[in-house]
Amino acid sequence: MSRQRAKLVVGNWKMHGRIKENAALLSEVAVGASALQKSVGVGVCVPCPYLAQSQALLSGSVVRWGVQDVSAHEKGAFTGEVAAEMAADFGVTYAIVGHSERRAYHRESPELVAAKALRAIDAGLTPIVCVGETLEQREAGSTEEVVGTQLEAVLLALTEEQAASIVVAYEPVWAIGTGKSATAQQAQDVHAFVRAKLAEKGASVANVPLLYGGSVKPENAHELFGQQDIDGGLIGGASLKSEDFLAICQAALAEVQ
Ligand code: PEP
Repeated sequence: MSRQRAKLVVGNWKMHGRIKENAALLSEVAVGASALQKSVGVGVCVPCPYLAQSQALLSGSVVRWGVQDVSAHEKGAFTGEVAAEMAADFGVTYAIVGHSERRAYHRESPELVAAKALRAIDAGLTPIVCVGETLEQREAGSTEEVVGTQLEAVLLALTEEQAASIVVAYEPVWAIGTGKSATAQQAQDVHAFVRAKLAEKGASVANVPLLYGGSVKPENAHELFGQQDIDGGLIGGASLKSEDFLAICQAALAEVQ
């Protein structure tokens, strides 16, 4: 039985979407999410070119929108980057930072991810800090070391008050986009570890929402969200189909009641 804490389900569209398809998806999600109670928060992190569209279609709904990355810089000669303040201009709530695809393909270090989290907070956004190990690291028994290092860099850069305002997503790299989710027990074990690390920063930090991400589907969402320290999910592929995404949101609702 999960503890009675509000759940949060956030979609990560990655580099998917076109204006026409988005209109249907965003509207369907907004309608479906309106049937959920306040105990489940819903968000979608879209590619930046679609922020204005998301703002137009989601304003006034219960669904919040976000970005998938922000620059570590406030402004300046950083061609191609998007500042957190720019995202804030579009009413954004969430900023994913440290997604494993950015850590791997853009060589983002734990310190850079921490700087991005801080920049997001300064702009009034809620960073969703992603942490997670590769299969090789898991098999070498270093999951806690890897996740701990990623998390500590962020906690070091933030005050206790700032740290209490973040969201953390545990996303084992081997489970992302592979169709092979972590088992509920594997996910819970790492979430409990993350929770304990957060508690070291301060009592208020221990309660930040901890999301699980990695091949969450309607079929496995109930079991995952039923775990003691899993407060919801960061959803990639399944967030692109309103039916699946909303079914995952319903699973979160069932586990909070
Ligand atoms: C993600 O990329 O954040 C993710 C969780 O992807 P998927 O659900 O497709 O595994």
